[in-house]
Amino acid sequence: MDCAGGPDEERSQVDISYPPETETFRTEVRAFLAGTLPPDWKGIGALDEEAAWAFARDWRGLLAERRYLSLTWPERYGGRGLTKLHQVVLMEELALAGVPFGLPQDTFGVKMLANTLLRWGTEEQKRRFLPRILSGEDTWCQGYSEPDAGSDLASLKTRAVPEGDTWVIDGQKVWTSGAHHSDWIFVLARTNRDASPHRGISFLLVPLDQPGVEVRPFRMMSGQLHFNEVFFSSARTRADLVVGGVDNGWTVAQSLLGVERGEEAATNPILFKAEVERLVELARLYGKDQDPVIRQRIAWCWSKVEIMRYLGYRILTGWLKGADPGPESSIAKLYWSEYHTKVTDLAMDIMGLHAQVPVGRPPLRTYRTDDPGAANSSASWSTTYLIARSGTIYAGTSQVQRNILAEKVLGLPREPRAAAG
Ligand SMILES: Cc1cc2nc3c(=O)[nH]c(=O)nc-3n(C[C@H](O)[C@H](O)[C@H](O)COP(=O)(O)OP(=O)(O)OC[C@H]3O[C@@H](n4cnc5c(N)ncnc54)[C@H](O)[C@@H]3O)c2cc1C
Repeated sequence: MDCAGGPDEERSQVDISYPPETETFRTEVRAFLAGTLPPDWKGIGALDEEAAWAFARDWRGLLAERRYLSLTWPERYGGRGLTKLHQVVLMEELALAGVPFGLPQDTFGVKMLANTLLRWGTEEQKRRFLPRILSGEDTWCQGYSEPDAGSDLASLKTRAVPEGDTWVIDGQKVWTSGAHHSDWIFVLARTNRDASPHRGISFLLVPLDQPGVEVRPFRMMSGQLHFNEVFFSSARTRADLVVGGVDNGWTVAQSLLGVERGEEAATNPILFKAEVERLVELARLYGKDQDPVIRQRIAWCWSKVEIMRYLGYRILTGWLKGADPGPESSIAKLYWSEYHTKVTDLAMDIMGLHAQVPVGRPPLRTYRTDDPGAANSSASWSTTYLIARSGTIYAGTSQVQRNILAEKVLGLPREPRAAAG
């Protein structure tokens, strides 16, 4: 299919025919799902909270055992040595079946850190950490943001100073998802104050269970206990636990941010389409399905998700050709996160005052939509409504994505930046 119209003709060609080897793998995954899930399976969202957590933990064990969690890692580190397109196929099939890819904290260990170690880690780091990430023995969190360094991450102030065979770390991180139940944190710390802001940063692996680290959880407006402040007061980590070289942390950190693009391109349209289908049911449930304005707004949501699907195809086409996704990732991030605030607004309007009295099972997810199979409870929608606001902030705010698009795609002048120092 030709989806012409963009500035770059090559990028705008959409051809989403997967190569035969990934289709063979799809058959394997489908057989595994059919043989493992109960015949009346509707998706993890259909289970109550306790049963859903129990299922998620057992399910993670099964995925690890089959090395689905480590599909693209080389075999010598416990993986299957398959391609990132196999990974996309796996994620598609899991999303369609309504089952998760691991537990929430696997986002940081399996998806972010493992891929980063594979690219930048020393042999010793890979052999030490990868098997423990796969088994779930070590859980990880991400220590990037600080009180005065979010969008402008390069202004981070946490410092690491070498002392004998250790780094001594002082400073504060904030918004650290899941630190309260993690064993380790990957930290961006300033290791060279004389270098320019982007150059003097290192990517360090730091154990959380030590006297120099204090983790203080705080609640999100959705009511979930998810975030933390993490304080380092002469915390220590071994000198060799720097990834990608001393003062090279900015490059390492940037590569980590790109690892999820292809997977999201494949799974977002599936999850968001299921959500629109739940929205249609919600309108029926509240007797609003004949309301012409509500109908029009639902149709708008449906067409937005269709466009999301084509955007996803465009990114995947690039992947099939081996190209870097480039600025499409900012288009996709901006698109789904802004869209999600609108679709959840609509759910709140459909429920009216009922939305103010959340009843039923809240979503287990902190990111994107409720789980596939979720019932149309007011707790599900009103929590997802609040969570949707955060989608326009994490992994780069909407304003920052617009800046990237303005400068890198539209070629507009760079916005003024503060002078160094
Ligand atoms: C759900 C969630 C989970 C998170 N998890 C983690 C985590 O695990 N680890 C971690 O390190 N961080 C995490 N974060 C933090 C996240 O990365 C930051 O919130 C984000 O980078 C924005 O930084 P900030 O909050 O400091 O806002 P700021 O950067 O201070 O931005 C404030 C406002 O100013 C705008 N703005 C900033 N710069 C510009 C500009 N140049 N042009 C135009 N507008 C601008 C922003 O868009 C925003 O509206 C998480 C955030 C959320 C919401």
